[in-house]
Amino acid sequence: TTPTASDFVAQIIENDLRTNKHEGRVATRFPPEPNGYLHMGHAKSICLNFGLAKKFQGSCNLRLDDTDPVGESMEYVESIIRDVRWLGFDWGDRLFYSSDYFEKLYSFATELIKQGNAYVCDLNADEVRERRGSFSEPGRESPYRNRSVEENLDLFSRMRAGEFADGTHTLRAKIDMASPNLVMRDPVIYRIKRELHYRTADKWVIYPMYDFAHCLSDALEGITHSICTLEFENNRPLYDWIVERLIARNRPQQTEFARLNLSYTVLSKRKLIQLVKEGHVRGWDDPRMPTLAGMRRRGFSPAAIRNFCSEIGVAKNDNLIDLSLLEHCVREDLNDSAPRAMAVLRPLRVVIDNYPEGQVEEFDCANHPQKPEMGSRALPFSRVLYIERDDFMENPSSKYHRLGPGKEVRLRNSYVIAFASMVKDEATGEVIELHCTYDPETRDAPPADGRKVKGVIHWVSAEHCVPVEVRLYDRLFNIPEPAGEEDFTRHLNPESLEVLSTCYAEASLKNAAPGSRYQFERLGYFCADEKDSQADKPVFNRIVALRDSWAK
Ligand code: ATP
Ligand code: MG
Ligand code: MG
Repeated sequence: TTPTASDFVAQIIENDLRTNKHEGRVATRFPPEPNGYLHMGHAKSICLNFGLAKKFQGSCNLRLDDTDPVGESMEYVESIIRDVRWLGFDWGDRLFYSSDYFEKLYSFATELIKQGNAYVCDLNADEVRERRGSFSEPGRESPYRNRSVEENLDLFSRMRAGEFADGTHTLRAKIDMASPNLVMRDPVIYRIKRELHYRTADKWVIYPMYDFAHCLSDALEGITHSICTLEFENNRPLYDWIVERLIARNRPQQTEFARLNLSYTVLSKRKLIQLVKEGHVRGWDDPRMPTLAGMRRRGFSPAAIRNFCSEIGVAKNDNLIDLSLLEHCVREDLNDSAPRAMAVLRPLRVVIDNYPEGQVEEFDCANHPQKPEMGSRALPFSRVLYIERDDFMENPSSKYHRLGPGKEVRLRNSYVIAFASMVKDEATGEVIELHCTYDPETRDAPPADGRKVKGVIHWVSAEHCVPVEVRLYDRLFNIPEPAGEEDFTRHLNPESLEVLSTCYAEASLKNAAPGSRYQFERLGYFCADEKDSQADKPVFNRIVALRDSWAK
């Protein structure tokens, strides 16, 4: 078989296994920082890391990468645990917190000082930045760079003890101020920050920087393949520099892959937090959000998201994936799994004049046209029905195959009806009721006289249907790449949510379990909202329409 770009990480691992690079082990990790909810980009990383562990009979850790106290919280930890589990992955007893390594990380830093590879610097952040130089110009060394080991050890322990104000001292790796890679110009590895940590409270006033904490956390957990996104490519030399100096054997190896970018949305916690905080959406689990919590509530299944991740593959170059590919995966999954039902979103009352008053028939309808094993339900039919307002036209053309003067149409799972007359609101002129006649011979058969009835429409029985609220969702943004815009919130789609509060669903949906998914015939796939559904009034979220209405 020809290797494809999509499995280059797997190829690296296969090669490492062949050369026995990590003693034949494969250990990966998914390391979210608990400073926000997981989004679709994280799903790609979760599928990749857990997927590789499974493929190579290795392990995958779930690590809360919580070394920066600002913005981290237990609420986020809980959401992360819930979401990874929901997506279908199991870390067994391999749940870790980087904050559990604070003491060990401190010892590692001390070790680096003893080696002469780190020093305490008294420059402030601006001064450090100003001396870092640029791509075209080497940096200038800190005047504190050549402090003795003893002095550095003393100062570092006093940093920990809280003797110095925030921002006045840092610990820096002593690497190379002339390196062409700016990351290597004596990076800061510890800083003073008096901020309560959600797990260690005020125990620490110094916190390790990501570049220092991450590689060593990997090493402490015995990770072999540390997979991260491309932005960290320049940080890899630093990753290796630290690990080579502090870890004697079983050194982890960083590999970068392209992050997921999805059109018409944003995949960055910082931006998603802004949407929540500024009230542009109704919380992290708003069904329009690209968060796992939002997509779950919308009705996307874990399998659909996993399929999408496998469909897009893993590449080495950044690209933009069209949102319609995700919707395609969602549709494919639901087409197989969702029972069919009927609901009318914009109701128009229809009276069947020749159907006896008080009579009720029940039709036995298959829940899925291709899957008899999904069973059937009883669908009541009576004299007064609701149909979709859109399925009627007062002045239809000859090509219109739904209801209107002179028209006949089949009611899905039921009879053929013919238009008789209409009733208008006297004040507005709006058509508020239709009168029709039904052809009793057409229940499971075409008209006996051979006339053709082309259109089929959905309906519910007025007496038996359940009032429901339906929420229709559209793209959250109205431009493909909102993340690139200065003020991305200006490009929010004002029509991303439409609430229809007077809809009618067939009787069988009365007790739709929160979270259950259906295909409402001709309308799309819908999911009973987990939060807002009430016993007497379910709320349905439209997961996705039946077809891609955005396709050209
Ligand atoms: P954000 O940019 O949204 O804040 P992050 O990378 O800071 O994301 P972390 O919680 O640190 O968020 O990420 C956990 C893991 O998820 C990392 O290994 C990261 O590489 C991966 N990840 C985050 N965003 C994406 C994405 N868009 N595509 C693929 N992987 C991602
Ligand atoms: Mg992060
Ligand atoms: Mg981030």
